[in-house]
Amino acid sequence: MDRDQQLLKVAKEFGAPVYVYDAEKIISQYNKLKKAFAPVDVQIKYACKALNNSSILKLLKKQGSGLDTVSINEVKLGLRAGFLPNEIIFTPNCVSIEEIQEAVELGVHINIDNISILEQFGSIYGNSVPCCIRINPHILAGGNSKISTGHIDSKFGISVYQLRHVLRVVESQKIKVNGLHMHTGSDILDPGVFLQGAEILFDAARDFKDLEFLDFGSGFKVAYKEGDITTDIEELGSALATRFLEFCKDYGRDLELWFEPGKFLVSESGFFLVKVNVLKQTTATVFVGVDSGLNHLIRPMLYDSYHHIENISNPEGKQRIYTVVGYICETDTFGWDRKLNEVREGDILCFRNAGAYGFTMSSNYNARFRPAEVLLYDGQAHLIRQRETFEDLIKNEVEIDL
Ligand SMILES: *Cc1c(COP(=O)(O)O)cnc(C)c1O
Repeated sequence: MDRDQQLLKVAKEFGAPVYVYDAEKIISQYNKLKKAFAPVDVQIKYACKALNNSSILKLLKKQGSGLDTVSINEVKLGLRAGFLPNEIIFTPNCVSIEEIQEAVELGVHINIDNISILEQFGSIYGNSVPCCIRINPHILAGGNSKISTGHIDSKFGISVYQLRHVLRVVESQKIKVNGLHMHTGSDILDPGVFLQGAEILFDAARDFKDLEFLDFGSGFKVAYKEGDITTDIEELGSALATRFLEFCKDYGRDLELWFEPGKFLVSESGFFLVKVNVLKQTTATVFVGVDSGLNHLIRPMLYDSYHHIENISNPEGKQRIYTVVGYICETDTFGWDRKLNEVREGDILCFRNAGAYGFTMSSNYNARFRPAEVLLYDGQAHLIRQRETFEDLIKNEVEIDL
């Protein structure tokens, strides 16, 4: 059975809208990344905010991955999925010291991105609990400014220009810094630019004597449409591995090299299937109205992201131009002027690259249910999350007498 046939079968069995993930693709992306950095044994900490279904977490755990988490609940999801505390790094931004203390209690690596938190952390734990420090190297590797976190006004990380201050806090509080981290958030389009950022981290690392790892975050770009520039992972891997080994020699100790990919591991594994409710001819275009909207896939409206759309119900149909929109009472356009095989009401459309930041960013806006999730694994389609029901919408409401 080819892929589209398999997807149609999933839509028939589990209904639409539904997110479908291909385990094989996740595994092959994971292995590709591991291989690219050889001879260095790169440690991958999957950034689970991209897609945090427990079955996906278990799948990555099985491959040998660790986890990057940004909230205490992501930490708990990771532990529940079987990750050991020391395989998890907690990299929050603007959370309270209490949430960080909770993470310390759970035994995970702590990544601190604020001098005020570093001071509080030091006065509570001294040298008894190590931490990692998130540096903002202020490099811009390119790409979408809405997702970039490395620029000068960014709220993420501690500016590399504040390093003297960081060192004073570390020394006076006797904090044990076991890792340095950077994650610029922008897409790595040019490995050369990324390597400049790495040099900044290497430079900073010389001032810290207790390091065990360097974490280079993420930014691996995958193709969303044909012809997209993607990160040349082999080129980046071999150049960084070489530099990293040189650095370790210089530093006098073997450190671990960490990365925290989200999108790279899961984006292309995902397919979002929706059903065409209506066709609507206007003076400007032919709208295809589907049984979904920005409540299920917000990236096109939030980031102007392009998601390729195909009509998998009518592969032989004549190609025509359509505008694909959702059913939410807001402007929720998935794509203008898309060439699709002739669309008929009831057809199933497939959105590509739906694995990352799809389901995890979904909501109940317009009192709609979040969709089901299905994992294709070992030739079988497994339901890994049920579609919500009306009960889910009201379960936290408290009724009062009016
Ligand atoms: C979101 C995030 C990532 C993953 O980014 P991708 O673009 O999905 O690879 C990695 N590290 C941190 C700290 C993040 O916040």
